[in-house]
Amino acid sequence: MGSFRIGIDAGGTKVAYGLFDQKNNLVGRRQHPTPADADGPQFSDLIIENCLALLQEQNLKIDDLRGIGVCMPSFILFDEGYICMTSAMENIRDFAMREYLTQRLPVPIVLDNDSNCAALAEYRFGAGRGSRHMVYMSVSTGIGSGLIINGELFRGSYGWAGETGHMLITPDEGLECGCRNRGCFMSWAGGRYIPDRVLRKAKDFETKMNLAERTDGIAILQACRDGDPLARAVLDEMAHYLGVCLFNIYQILNINLFVFGGGLTHFGPLLFDRVRAEFDRYNHIPQPVEFRFAELKQDFGIIGAAELV
Ligand SMILES: [Zn+2]
Repeated sequence: MGSFRIGIDAGGTKVAYGLFDQKNNLVGRRQHPTPADADGPQFSDLIIENCLALLQEQNLKIDDLRGIGVCMPSFILFDEGYICMTSAMENIRDFAMREYLTQRLPVPIVLDNDSNCAALAEYRFGAGRGSRHMVYMSVSTGIGSGLIINGELFRGSYGWAGETGHMLITPDEGLECGCRNRGCFMSWAGGRYIPDRVLRKAKDFETKMNLAERTDGIAILQACRDGDPLARAVLDEMAHYLGVCLFNIYQILNINLFVFGGGLTHFGPLLFDRVRAEFDRYNHIPQPVEFRFAELKQDFGIIGAAELV
């Protein structure tokens, strides 16, 4: 068995590949847009093709690999390497992906949820270094988390421990989420649902935003900075539900370190100071609870995926 590893980060917009040597140096990379309509075999064929090309570029063979890690925003039966569903590519459902990949790439292959991989990367190389327990929160188009307990990723019975975004907070009320329920945290605080939430609140607040043109996270961020009442109300609502979500996680796990990653961290203190205030409003026991931003930049996905091996 070789000593090189490949980490693959299959996200909603792009699929990134990183080849790491035995000293953990990134020695090769590839990238292509996410094939949104691909089914399991089509997507797997693309992965196989790119892995082989990545090896060839470095004059390596499959035997030089110690393994391949793949992270996706998915419900995955971890032990089986079986994809139940993935929100990045809706046509990949109920697919024995590891079995398929292993036929052409006969090395150890590990498939895991993207938040778990990000948690692993931040825990080993980023904001969680040296801590015993850590909750990684991805606050992005969706909301998800990865749980580190006693230095190890906790996956639960099947593999989707930490799907905190789909915990229900207003069951059957609010927007319908991709999880097919109404009222999960993601539907209240995920970036994907910002335009719908803006429109729902528009009748109650004044705004200078052009609602016909742009109501996504970037528009909201700008409008908040300009003091727009509607944008502020949407942001307050997100902060409220995020704060409640964190408080609930804190109550069940009593982990005192939260690390935030994902696109909405660009909101910075504007959002996260409000989240903190909401958390503190419910927390009546004055033991320290730390909020930190993730430290690793755009490569955390491929790093975390390679760490699975
Ligand atoms: Zn949901």
